[in-house]
Amino acid sequence: MKRRQAIRRIGMGLGGGLLLPPFLDSCATKEPAPEINFDGTIAVIGAGAAGLYVADILHTKGIKVSLFEAREQIGGRVRSVRNQGTDAYPIIPKLSSDFPLELGAQTIHGSDSIFGKIFTDYQLPTIEFPSSSFAYVMDNTAQLGTAWGSDPDYVAASNFRANLKSYAGSALSVLQASQSAGVSARAANIVNATTANPYGSSSERMGIGALGENETLKTHDGKFLSLKSNPMQDALISRFSNIQQFVQLKTPITSINYGAKPISLTAKDGTTYTADKVIVTVPLSVLKNNLITFTPSLPAVNTGAMAKFGFDACIRVILEFKKNFWGDTTGLIFGSNGIPEYFSYGMGRSQFNTTLTVTVCGPRAAQLSAMGDGAVDAILSDLDVLYKDANNQGLATQFIRLDITTLERIYLIQDWTKMDYILGGYSYPMPGTKNSDRKSLSTPVNNVLFFAGEATDVSGEGGSVNGALASAERCAQEVIDTIQKGL
Ligand SMILES: Cc1cc2nc3c(=O)[nH]c(=O)nc-3n(C[C@H](O)[C@H](O)[C@H](O)COP(=O)(O)OP(=O)(O)OC[C@H]3O[C@@H](n4cnc5c(N)ncnc54)[C@H](O)[C@@H]3O)c2cc1C
Repeated sequence: MKRRQAIRRIGMGLGGGLLLPPFLDSCATKEPAPEINFDGTIAVIGAGAAGLYVADILHTKGIKVSLFEAREQIGGRVRSVRNQGTDAYPIIPKLSSDFPLELGAQTIHGSDSIFGKIFTDYQLPTIEFPSSSFAYVMDNTAQLGTAWGSDPDYVAASNFRANLKSYAGSALSVLQASQSAGVSARAANIVNATTANPYGSSSERMGIGALGENETLKTHDGKFLSLKSNPMQDALISRFSNIQQFVQLKTPITSINYGAKPISLTAKDGTTYTADKVIVTVPLSVLKNNLITFTPSLPAVNTGAMAKFGFDACIRVILEFKKNFWGDTTGLIFGSNGIPEYFSYGMGRSQFNTTLTVTVCGPRAAQLSAMGDGAVDAILSDLDVLYKDANNQGLATQFIRLDITTLERIYLIQDWTKMDYILGGYSYPMPGTKNSDRKSLSTPVNNVLFFAGEATDVSGEGGSVNGALASAERCAQEVIDTIQKGL
């Protein structure tokens, strides 16, 4: 029986250490799987959730792994404010939120999901945001779903979201499907905010068929959670602490010659590396933009599937206010005119529940991105329409927190579209795309080239950390199968 490793404190920079064992408890109590005999090395490109997990699985089976990460830290699109330096983020010392803020993934879907289980096993406290805390906007008014009650337009939008499963296989866009379901223009922003933006784009660009199919595949309890006091990136770093030693940071891979034996990898600085098999876990944007040259070219099955998924602009803005004017019990605000999602990130975890995080994907994110710091003015104006004082003056502009010396507004913009090696938010299915297209996208090539990462998930969780982790399990099995068959 494998002995459970002693719990130890792992240093994790600004986020402070989590007290975690390096392996999942569930793994630690199981009989170890037989070691796989393989003399070669598996190169993993990208050290986000998928890359770290696939490397971890292979490493625990005794297979030699070597990870190449383009950026300066591991985690990919799981990136926490506390883990960033002030050179890149000079606003950090001025932020007053007394809870971890996230630049990328900020919620966990399903307490018993693959990602949720990591937090359960490590006993990391989480906060649940119940649907009763969700507010929706129509007629420039934001109010909780219960307050909209039987308003027919609200009910139509809400039923449309609840019936997503029934659209499995449809070739329509979310917008087209909602219109045929009778959702009025008055509630169109709610549909966009609940059924497109969280999946990576806007309702006219998002295909509903694959979203419906995903709903039929999900097996977790669907709870909507976030970590109460630990940065998500720290949780990943700790969970995969045994893999960090194999990661080479600041090493973007620009070409992979998988026709050669051994396979030859070239990094941006011209250094070459060799490996016997390669797992590519980079964001779909990197592949779609041909930022890695493959020799031979990737087969049509992979590239054809790639074209069926979008990877749009995505932006996160964190705003701190002097006062909560949106309501202490309001967790999320969906569907304003300009911003699909406001998240009251301090709700339930701090008496200072005065922070809003904004997440926008798709064409609207591209517009905000083009505005630079002007995006903050656009967001405040959007909020001012919803929340006013007795003199009809917008509350957001009045209550945005200011730096006491410079009187500058306190906010942080994370523009993922401008972030090298990520270049947007996450993969989403275009109209007509099916879950089987994700399978095609991940088809291994010549038993030596494999694909993992959220875009390649076939478990119904594409576009999320759950999807990235599930793809790692699928991919590790594919690699092991080829090794066991002597391929
Ligand atoms: C703003 C935002 C909000 C989100 N919110 C949520 C959420 O609330 N819940 C949720 O579950 N998910 C959310 N997601 C999605 C989630 O973050 C991703 O699905 C998941 O983290 C992807 O993991 P991955 O390993 O597939 O890819 P990544 O995390 O992107 O990892 C891939 C890695 O490859 C590296 N790379 C790229 N090119 C190269 C190269 N040429 N050579 C070497 N390395 C390279 C990248 O730097 C990156 O580190 C959000 C994403 C964003 C952007």
